[in-house]
Amino acid sequence: MIVDERMVTYIHSLEMPDSKLLETIEQEALADHVPIIRKETQSFLKVLLQIQKPMRILEVGTAVGFSALLMNAYAPEGNRITTIEKYEKRIPIARENFRRAGKEEEITLIEGDALEVLKNLGGTYDLIFMDAAKGQYIHYLPEAIRLLEPGGLLVSDNVLQDGDVIESRFAVERRNRTIHSRMREYLYELKHNENLLTSIVPLGDGLALSVKQGEKNV
Ligand code: SAM
Repeated sequence: MIVDERMVTYIHSLEMPDSKLLETIEQEALADHVPIIRKETQSFLKVLLQIQKPMRILEVGTAVGFSALLMNAYAPEGNRITTIEKYEKRIPIARENFRRAGKEEEITLIEGDALEVLKNLGGTYDLIFMDAAKGQYIHYLPEAIRLLEPGGLLVSDNVLQDGDVIESRFAVERRNRTIHSRMREYLYELKHNENLLTSIVPLGDGLALSVKQGEKNV
């Protein structure tokens, strides 16, 4: 945990409940140990959605559809979400959750490996939520920049790797070293890429908020 545990507990204690269905899906996901966005990240995302008002959203990493449903609920009426997932056990659960919420028309789930799917996507998005395999973010980035509308937001979750990212490579467990170096590379790129302006926020497990530079297409 990168933020003091008592602080997180206190912030959680202030959270207001969401719709009954979102609360139920969140509880089911947590009971099944499905990694979904944390409460404090949910609030941050909701505020961003209300500021940015994205009509076209792309999510990398659906899991069981919780964050897709949350984004759909807080983005403007008529928004459309495309979400990508490759884990065949989670795909039917996500589809069922979209059906329970009556959102099958608004949320499109694309099955497959994110990098392959991203390469084949066309059009542009107002917001991209990156929440899949952390070690792959650096490979997704060129596609995310291509797919992002100028002025659009790239939100990358879990970028501080439980605090490991600030440690020396040798202080990190051997099995986490590839992710460690790729995440450092990703954060460096987010901060130095001329197409992006990025803020790294120590929220949840670390969130990077990037805006694509350039004039919005009208
Ligand atoms: N965004 C979800 C939420 O908050 O409700 C949680 C997503 S979970 C942290 C990450 C998901 O990304 C997992 O379900 C995993 O199977 C999926 N994933 C990991 N690598 C992937 C890849 N290469 N292509 C597609 N999905 C991938």
